[in-house]
Amino acid sequence: MQNIGMTPVAADSAAMAADAAYVGRFAPSPTGPLHRGSLAAALASWLDARAHGGQWLVRIEDVDGPRCRPGAEEAILAQLAACGLHADRPVIRQRDRAVAYQRALDVLRTGGLAYPCACSRRAVEEALVQRGMAPERHAERIYPGTCRAGIAEGTPAGPRAWRLRVPAGAAAHVDWVDRRLGAHSEAVDRTVGDFVLLRADGMWAYQLAVVVDDAGQGVTDVVRGEDLADSTARQVLLQRMLGLATPRYLHVPLVRDEAGEKLSKQTGAAAFVPGPAALAQAMRDLGLGSSGAATVPGLLADAVDRWRASWGEG
Ligand code: GLU
Repeated sequence: MQNIGMTPVAADSAAMAADAAYVGRFAPSPTGPLHRGSLAAALASWLDARAHGGQWLVRIEDVDGPRCRPGAEEAILAQLAACGLHADRPVIRQRDRAVAYQRALDVLRTGGLAYPCACSRRAVEEALVQRGMAPERHAERIYPGTCRAGIAEGTPAGPRAWRLRVPAGAAAHVDWVDRRLGAHSEAVDRTVGDFVLLRADGMWAYQLAVVVDDAGQGVTDVVRGEDLADSTARQVLLQRMLGLATPRYLHVPLVRDEAGEKLSKQTGAAAFVPGPAALAQAMRDLGLGSSGAATVPGLLADAVDRWRASWGEG
């Protein structure tokens, strides 16, 4: 079996095995059809749910409207179905969930835990440079707190973003455990600061939407690509501030091309052709080795056995 670092963190799989109420999910953004890397992530979440005798849900994360492509949702669902990956409950879409996101924002606002912000990206950058922090392109920037005490007088009226008032000190500290990557510790006030919940253009931020939806769907286990590991502390902090349960997390390795770049829609990774060959590739990509099975059901049965051997049973 090829080893791509999928060794479980000790003891966790035993705890998982006892959990009959497992709910997992795959949450693709409909920015294009799934590629080889996203199939591996979908398969990982499905396998973990099956191996634990749990439910597997699909949620379409279309909260960032302009990035969504017409027909992508249908293409994704058809690709999943052709690989034998069927959701156990009706698919939900974030575009239908604004009321729930608004309710969560209202809870935070009422508690003084969210505030309106008039800063453009450029204003944030300028404020940081004024504080002696060198400009950085493409890097996650810590919000300098410009609007924390209120929007400056004289600021022209206009649509506002809403930010989370990240608490100071110990209350901003998040410890969380990944089943593969182990223990993480992050002081959110020092890594990102007050992050956006609702954008000035009216779009809900991924961090808020994902937390509200995971809780709303009763998700107990998040299995997703490793590129999202660095969002997890923000999500756990939000769960805490909203009084929501924290799921278990497993971030699986990203599939990379020959140059070592992660496969992504942005870099033009090709849609996979659904069927046994794609599924067999996804199994290899997840470190589950080569299967002798030639059909979709045969491959999936084999994959569940192999996954269970690594990650615990249901
Ligand atoms: N919608 C996100 C993506 O496609 C996944 C979010 C998640 O799994 O938490 O990258």
